[in-house]
Amino acid sequence: MLQSHLDGMILRVKKNEEMFKRFQELDMRLLSLNSLRELVEHIYTDAQLVFNLESLSLVLADEKSEIKQFLTEDGFRFDEYQSVIVLSQTAVFKDKLGLSQRIVLGDAEKVLPKEFWPDNTSRPKTVAIIPLLRRGVYLGCMVFGSDEVDRFQAEMATYFLDRLGKVLSVCMENTLNYEQLRRNSLFDTLTGVNNRRFFEQRMDEEILRSLRTGDSLSCLFIDIDFFKKVNDNYGHQVGDIALRHVAEQLRSQLRSNDILARYGGEEFIVVLPTASEKKGIEVADRMREAIAKTPLSLTSGEVLNLTVSMGVSTFVVNEPGVSKALGRSVLIEVADKALYAAKKSGRNCVVSGGELVAISGAKSQSS
Ligand code: GH3
Ligand code: MG
Ligand code: MG
Repeated sequence: MLQSHLDGMILRVKKNEEMFKRFQELDMRLLSLNSLRELVEHIYTDAQLVFNLESLSLVLADEKSEIKQFLTEDGFRFDEYQSVIVLSQTAVFKDKLGLSQRIVLGDAEKVLPKEFWPDNTSRPKTVAIIPLLRRGVYLGCMVFGSDEVDRFQAEMATYFLDRLGKVLSVCMENTLNYEQLRRNSLFDTLTGVNNRRFFEQRMDEEILRSLRTGDSLSCLFIDIDFFKKVNDNYGHQVGDIALRHVAEQLRSQLRSNDILARYGGEEFIVVLPTASEKKGIEVADRMREAIAKTPLSLTSGEVLNLTVSMGVSTFVVNEPGVSKALGRSVLIEVADKALYAAKKSGRNCVVSGGELVAISGAKSQSS
């Protein structure tokens, strides 16, 4: 009897050891992931395997619709992961789960709120709801589902589930912070177009590409006319709305591989890869016209007519493959000077500063 008792214990220890190893592997994997998309996809697939689940859902708290945006931008397929639920009504977590990190176990009928399970999917019989909480704020929860009535019982030990909840919460918080930082370094927070830092990096890449391919490239420098008056007459808040409006109009006239950024206060800059001077002026004038033709209606009922002035410069490569790179600052300077001329000639117009031809690489090396 003693022997069989001992055998039973050894078997249990071995089983626990195996389980512990699998969970540790899951932890390590979660800790090594970098993007939110990777994290969501891995936890979804791995948790099913490691915990041998029949069904699960991952519910994410997304008050500012950031998570949805991050995942969509990264190519996450919501249609393939129907049990990944993004909730903008984040109060539901606190309402249904309280603020404790305790796992909720039991009959789905009794403990599973409808918000935490996808509609038109059959509901499990028993569930374990794992809260994902950091510093008293809900990041979401995970629901493990089973069709067995005795799989998740209120009195069962939850060491591994607790541990998963805590590790996943830390990973989620880190990944979200990282994604926010990454995006802040690319975009202007007021207008949503790219920021200057990103622009300068991309412009350098485009200049190098032109040198290789021989395609020309146009740069547009854009400044809103009499913008100070908007602030003075309507206040800074309306000024900010006007900036967003102009950014939107500019963006609406561009193709996906053109680059638009806020350069400073009420100045924007655009790079049009492959555009000749003629094309650059044409696109600039289309943008100028779009803004002049689209007044901004304020909530007060007033209508704001905005215009912009633009300067154009164009980089031309006559000897692809051998020409020398031209600094972006020269191109921007020429466009900026042309913009100044546009301001002087009455505003709401486009002036070109002409072509800048790449220096021949062969000549410059011999001199
Ligand atoms: P011009 O036609 O010669 O360009 O005239 P302007 O009034 O647009 O030129 P100026 O450079 O004198 O004024 C730019 C104004 O833009 C001044 C500044 O208060 C405003 N501005 C810069 N950044 C922001 C911003 O982020 N929000 C708001 N509301 N205003 C801004
Ligand atoms: Mg200005
Ligand atoms: Mg201005």
